Amino acid sequence: MFNFPDLPINVVKPKEPVEAKIVESKICTLESSPNFIRHITIDVSGTPLVGQFKAGQSIGIIAPGVDKDGKPHKVRLYSVSSPSNGENGNPNLVSTTVKRVLDEDWETQELFTGVCSNYISSRKAGDTILIAGPSGKRFILPDNKLDCNYVFFATGTGIAPFRGMLIDLFESGFKGHVALLFGAAYRTDLLYYKWLSDLEKQYPNFHYKIAVSREGRRADGTKTYVQHLILDYKEELSPIFAQENTLMYICGLEGMEAGIYSNLASLGFYSYMKAGRNIAEKPATEWTWEDYKNNVKPSDRTMVEVY
Ligand code: NAP
Repeated sequence: MFNFPDLPINVVKPKEPVEAKIVESKICTLESSPNFIRHITIDVSGTPLVGQFKAGQSIGIIAPGVDKDGKPHKVRLYSVSSPSNGENGNPNLVSTTVKRVLDEDWETQELFTGVCSNYISSRKAGDTILIAGPSGKRFILPDNKLDCNYVFFATGTGIAPFRGMLIDLFESGFKGHVALLFGAAYRTDLLYYKWLSDLEKQYPNFHYKIAVSREGRRADGTKTYVQHLILDYKEELSPIFAQENTLMYICGLEGMEAGIYSNLASLGFYSYMKAGRNIAEKPATEWTWEDYKNNVKPSDRTMVEVY
């Protein structure tokens, strides 16, 4: 039922990267977000990478300089957020979504700044960078994409591949149902919010649901996370999960996966996971983290890219 294309990968190898030019870098959070998250578009014209990056794959970016051991920085992977025919339909352009990693070590109080995310976030239009790729074979839409329904789960910058996939679907005349369930800490961090809200108004078959974790609490005192949306919107989402031709994609923070499976299991949707017999017989509301870790794996209709 689901046929996935066999996409070429590493057309440009990380050991022999090519130069490409940044053409645009713009903030994609709402105003006044405390985070710095940018939609960055790169021109790959004149390289073997033209037309090669499909939604769901990743771009390899190599920061200049050396690491603490004096070795050249390793390639870092960033999800493509442009559609499969390129940003704005231009096969020379590929986009990604990058958050500046800025953190403080709790014990030493040292400031930690992610090497590549800060490098790329500081580059401006006209600057060149070294890139390679594409990578990723599995986290993509099937060949027969218009014959399926989709539920996309994203936290933070994990939304990147779904921007491209949504454009791929709606620009091809998609008539099925697609849900994007997105989790962010604050409302200011709702990525691509204006575009997604407009898309929701334009397409009744697009179901856009948001979990904001740090503004307000649930009745039981916990934060609202993306996995809660399965139950919060069960009347609207269950008919989509129930279709045999629905695929599920999960991208972002690893922690969301367990809650997604247990909430789906509590509604009887076991076909999105391979659950060991001992856990399938236990009520999903009683699953522990160990139960999940040792017994539950994604099924063939579930695609996962988490860190
Ligand atoms: P973030 O801002 O740290 O988190 C986004 C939201 O997820 C917040 O509301 C956060 O809540 C919530 N969250 C935390 N723990 C959770 C859990 N166990 N279950 C559900 N939600 C949870 O996100 P980010 O900094 O953008 O990070 C996104 C992650 O995605 C990064 O690790 C990045 O590397 C990864 N990513 C992966 C890919 C890929 O695999 N291709 C692509 C893009 C991004 P609280 O903080 O309030 O608890």
